[in-house]
Amino acid sequence: MAASGDVTSFDPADHLPDALLERIRGRAAGVDADNVFPDEDLSELREAGYLSILVPADRGGAGLTLEQAAILQQRLATAAPATALAVNMHLVWTGVAKVLRDRGIDDLAFVQSGAAAGEVFAFGISEAGNDLVLFGSDTVAEPRPDGGYTFTGTKIFTSLAPVWTQLGLHGLDASDPDAPQLVFAFVPRSEAVVTRDDWDTLGMRGTQSRTTELHGATAPAERVVRLVPPGPSPDPLVFGIFAVFELLLASVYTGIARRALDLAAETAGKRRSKRTGRPHAQDPDIRWRVADMGLAYDALPPQIAALARDVDELADHGARWFTLLSGVKHRATATAKRIVDDAMLVAGGSSYFASNELSRLYRDVLAGAFHPSDPESAHATAATYWLGPLEA
Ligand SMILES: Cc1cc2nc3c(=O)[nH]c(=O)nc-3n(C[C@H](O)[C@H](O)[C@H](O)COP(=O)(O)OP(=O)(O)OC[C@H]3O[C@@H](n4cnc5c(N)ncnc54)[C@H](O)[C@@H]3O)c2cc1C
Repeated sequence: MAASGDVTSFDPADHLPDALLERIRGRAAGVDADNVFPDEDLSELREAGYLSILVPADRGGAGLTLEQAAILQQRLATAAPATALAVNMHLVWTGVAKVLRDRGIDDLAFVQSGAAAGEVFAFGISEAGNDLVLFGSDTVAEPRPDGGYTFTGTKIFTSLAPVWTQLGLHGLDASDPDAPQLVFAFVPRSEAVVTRDDWDTLGMRGTQSRTTELHGATAPAERVVRLVPPGPSPDPLVFGIFAVFELLLASVYTGIARRALDLAAETAGKRRSKRTGRPHAQDPDIRWRVADMGLAYDALPPQIAALARDVDELADHGARWFTLLSGVKHRATATAKRIVDDAMLVAGGSSYFASNELSRLYRDVLAGAFHPSDPESAHATAATYWLGPLEA
């Protein structure tokens, strides 16, 4: 077992063994075709301790760093992108807990001990048409006399929908119109939460990111994590969510890119030209295309590793953090899409069949652009950093 936090002795196979990865890979096509949640993947990952990789050893986890978790998520995504993306949401909360604790704020200790005990944490942030994302919410957060909150509203795209046990969410408490507060909290699954059966998408079907209706779902006082004013906020919780979300998301799509590249190289070795009698791997045009994919891919893992390490080591990039983080997510998802596109061309017509893994990756990789920060948001953030804010 790798020593906690020691990248040099870190072996991804200790946490995600080859045999488990191959079982997960073997189930991915069926999960996609049947449009179901990968229950077996989750239970095997839980068994392997994967749900607590980011939980410190003193709270029952593997005590890995964000840099190490990012490597593992790339590895998992090469086998089953939807499984990796679903688990990502749980890892985001455990990662946020670590980011906070590393900075002396232990508000999410219950997430760490909960994850080690087998709880599954979902990420209930997205709402229809809410392009403010973390900085605003249409969900009503109503204070209770005991310090808890009830939440009423509708969250969309809640990955892990059939299996989560705790939903981390936000809502707006406008009970004092002069001082509205965004409330970040965790609610357990209860009768006040309705999960619609409405996930029927082009790709990432295994995430089962269904719509979640909140009908007065209650977070007890000890699960109310943070109250922050609406709008951009320097709160460490907001930084933690942003940082861990963008880096782990970039990792999932980088894993897809890696798998597409491997499949393209494999196919190029197998397809043979009647014209030359040689495998496509010897065709200068195909060689150029695969090389181009490789050149693009090789930039991604080091970018993720460097920024994740900076988060782990409490580096201070100040205002630059946001464009660095949304930038790596944007580059990873856009590059992965282009690599999968090229892989389809290298593989030829067979990749167009629904049964071909590349056609699934092609559908899955499209989802990358929709996650925050979407291309518009990433560009707006970069423009603000380099040019200053947009004038009114
Ligand atoms: C595979 C996948 C998994 C995801 N998992 C999660 C997750 O676990 N947790 C999470 O918080 N987010 C998750 N997301 C959500 C994601 O991050 C985005 O929030 C989501 O893709 C919405 O993107 P958008 O802003 O482009 O869509 P929107 O423009 O917000 O559209 C989303 C839906 O809202 C409707 N809509 C848009 N505007 C309005 C309006 N004014 N009134 C009423 N309806 C409206 C649209 O018709 C559409 O059905 C996931 C996304 C994907 C693709």
